[in-house]
Amino acid sequence: MTADLTINLDRLMSRIAELGRIGALPGGGCKRLALSAEDAEGRALVTGWFRAAGLEVRTDVIGNCWAIRPGRSGGAPVVMGSHIDTVATGGLYDGVLGVLGGLEVIESAIEAGTETEKPLAVAFFTNEEGARFAPDMMGSGVAQGGLDLDEMLAKVGIDGVSVAEALAAIGAAGPDPVGALAPDTYLELHIEQGPVLEAEGLDIGVVTGVQGISWTEITIEGQAAHAGTTPMALRHDAGLVAARIATEARAIADAFGPPQVATVGRIALTPDLVNVIPERAVLTVDLRNTDEARLQAAEARLFERAEAFAAAGGCRLSRRTLARFEPVAFDATLVDAVEAEAQALGLTHRRMPSGAGHDAQMFAPRCPSAMIFVPSQDGISHNIREFTAPGQIAPGVRLLAQVALARAGRIDQKGQTE
Ligand SMILES: [Zn+2]
Repeated sequence: MTADLTINLDRLMSRIAELGRIGALPGGGCKRLALSAEDAEGRALVTGWFRAAGLEVRTDVIGNCWAIRPGRSGGAPVVMGSHIDTVATGGLYDGVLGVLGGLEVIESAIEAGTETEKPLAVAFFTNEEGARFAPDMMGSGVAQGGLDLDEMLAKVGIDGVSVAEALAAIGAAGPDPVGALAPDTYLELHIEQGPVLEAEGLDIGVVTGVQGISWTEITIEGQAAHAGTTPMALRHDAGLVAARIATEARAIADAFGPPQVATVGRIALTPDLVNVIPERAVLTVDLRNTDEARLQAAEARLFERAEAFAAAGGCRLSRRTLARFEPVAFDATLVDAVEAEAQALGLTHRRMPSGAGHDAQMFAPRCPSAMIFVPSQDGISHNIREFTAPGQIAPGVRLLAQVALARAGRIDQKGQTE
């Protein structure tokens, strides 16, 4: 095995901090919703770093961006990627670590004079978070053919602006067509966003796959009426039906047991007044499981009970799917390679599935793909308190470098390919 690449941790940490100042929130964290003015500023900063490193920068029709360092033999690149958009209460590390960590690997390789047979690339993908436009993982999904371009361009965000309009507003779309980025291998370094690694005192999560995700928006139509004068038996209370669905989601998770999880993250009531029975309720249900059959069973039970609650409450119910992704298993050989390199670097590690969705799952059907997790302090993410210490980031980037260079065919000083 070759000595591991020396990475410049100070440079990486200062870049993470600098990107975090764009859309900075009081008290820490940042807000760079996909294709917003802040996202545009973040894109300019990161692509500036790509160019300064001497990389060829390319952008596709939905604003995915990647930068290439040529290999000696050419061919498809080994791509290290993630995202730089955030949720409204985002931290500094989610997504950003995978992009700037990938850039750090390439710059460190350039500075060390380490060449590869295949090209190396670093990439960020449009609207991974789904916080402004649903579904999430939109850019990577379009790039790899899992989502339809025209359908995604027409999606309207929470502010009434479509993806196509938002792309045009910040000039984020480029000339490269769908499918222009076709990796040899896809690698994504990411914070765990959960508490497992910290609790077990481990350096690295070797990610085996990603949970299946089901997002549904349910709308209940009842009838607004006076809260004081309307007898209980005569009500069509949309809010009550929404509350029953929320508790049913929890009951499903309890009945199915781990790894099933269920969350009602939004309930909007109309007219939203203290003394008026709600005439309308809109809520979202997020269901996840590593097993597709179990996930389908959870959906079936939720939808059936929701209909029954609505009928019992004298309300009408409609629903639409906001996002639906089947569970993904990463490439077994590549996962083994990540584990073996972690072992060789003397890092403590464990195998684990990802509880969150990631761009890597969109690549998995198309090329060998894998992910590396580093710990999240207190398991907190999508929160301004999100934190991973520099000393916990460094092992992840070193491991990313080892795996990426090996996959790309590292050429040592004597010109021998490993
Ligand atoms: Zn992320």
